[in-house]
Amino acid sequence: MYDKKSLNADDFINHEEILATLKYADEHKDDMPLIREIIEKAKKRKGLDHREASVLLACEDEEIIAEIYKLAEAIKQDYYGNRIVLFAPLYLSNYCINGCLYCPYHGKNKNIRRVKLTQEQIRDEVIALQDMGHKRLAIEAGEHPEMNPIEYILESIDTIYGIHHKNGAIRRINVNIAATTVENYKKLKDAEIGTYILFQETYNKESYLKLHPTGPKHDYDYHTEAMDRAMAGGIDDVGLGVLFGLELYRYEFAGVLMHAEHLEAVHGVGPHTISMPRVKPADDIDPDEFDGGISDEIFAKLCALIRIAVPYTGMIISTRESQKVREMVLPLGVSQISGGSKTSVGGYAEEELPEDNSSQFDVSDRRTLDEVVNWLMRLGYIPSFCTACYRAGRTGDRFMELCKNMQILNCCHPNALLTLKEYLEDYASPDTKKLGLEMIQKEISVIPNEKIRKKTADYLNGIADGSRDFRF
Ligand code: SAM
Repeated sequence: MYDKKSLNADDFINHEEILATLKYADEHKDDMPLIREIIEKAKKRKGLDHREASVLLACEDEEIIAEIYKLAEAIKQDYYGNRIVLFAPLYLSNYCINGCLYCPYHGKNKNIRRVKLTQEQIRDEVIALQDMGHKRLAIEAGEHPEMNPIEYILESIDTIYGIHHKNGAIRRINVNIAATTVENYKKLKDAEIGTYILFQETYNKESYLKLHPTGPKHDYDYHTEAMDRAMAGGIDDVGLGVLFGLELYRYEFAGVLMHAEHLEAVHGVGPHTISMPRVKPADDIDPDEFDGGISDEIFAKLCALIRIAVPYTGMIISTRESQKVREMVLPLGVSQISGGSKTSVGGYAEEELPEDNSSQFDVSDRRTLDEVVNWLMRLGYIPSFCTACYRAGRTGDRFMELCKNMQILNCCHPNALLTLKEYLEDYASPDTKKLGLEMIQKEISVIPNEKIRKKTADYLNGIADGSRDFRF
């Protein structure tokens, strides 16, 4: 039975409720009075529930879709401004005992080169990432209790936070590892991670069981209930995601919103982020073998609807997407993107060999971080390397409050300018630096609070003399 407060996966991601939602959406996709009502509700910027948002997803009226896009852009502007936070994934190990049919790490793939980084190799990777200018990483690993136990992950986090090369520092490590126990989540919390990220892959249990035929990840309930355990372990920034392309997107969309509603109902705080990955070709993997491939247009519509349905949740687009697609979805509510990414284990420090097949998927956006930063600014976005929130205690509901009270412009905006300046001084090419300094001059005036505006200007001058990091 559908119950968003229940701690059982089958209740809060209830299959019958999703089917009823899809039926309701089909029946009302041309019901203009209802659609208008839903859009008016969305304009209040308090979000939509899974049924309401599913009606908008089903609606094919071009004028309505244009209105949804416009609203998504306005909400993004209100809550996030024109900042885009940058990060990079760091693959620690691709040893894995699961059998995920879409992932080249699956245990039966004997073709892939298996690599587990030593702490020394992690140092080399992190120095290479710091030399690009990265401050925020998402660490990734396959699931292998012997090769990648929690102790290895914790030791790696410790190593990464401890490396300071020139002016470089990794100040926030988000963690994307397999579902685990409350005890292990407590350890991750104590290791001062940022967000715990775990993609659901698909919310459709029947498909999930087929797509994960072997290994611990086969346990749908354990996987789906992971975020509740993470929160019980004290982690209050969690990141959801569906691997679009595996199953029918309308089912997944209802599922991820129900998951967000569940977290809010039980823990008083929704997901910190929702990632939007699409399945990509990889060694031993052909995305066409799955049922749910979606066009770029549907992908954009999903992004826009996530933005209006959960206005306070960040949205992440990785380098799985091309420059063209990223350009299409950025204005629709994206708050974070990766840049200069390598998805192979050890790919940052070593020159990638053509025959290396240790990567998790093909990257579509292969530009350097400097190129991405430059491109963002030319599009009018402020590239932000800010990692302040969890370090200043603004996690979970405290971050949501900041967002809901629209204080981002007095807090995240100045921090974005400060960390951008830091990047420009330390790592940017001459053209990017010139462009960035001009942008900073222009963007200081946007800070509404006069005191903060003045302080930001002072701090910005200080960065050239060596003071680093966020201030607000
Ligand atoms: N092993 C952990 C787990 O099972 O959750 C960590 C996740 S894995 C390193 C990161 C994510 O990459 C997966 O959750 C999956 O959604 C995604 N992924 C796997 N194969 C992919 C592919 N062929 N194309 C795009 N993304 C893929």
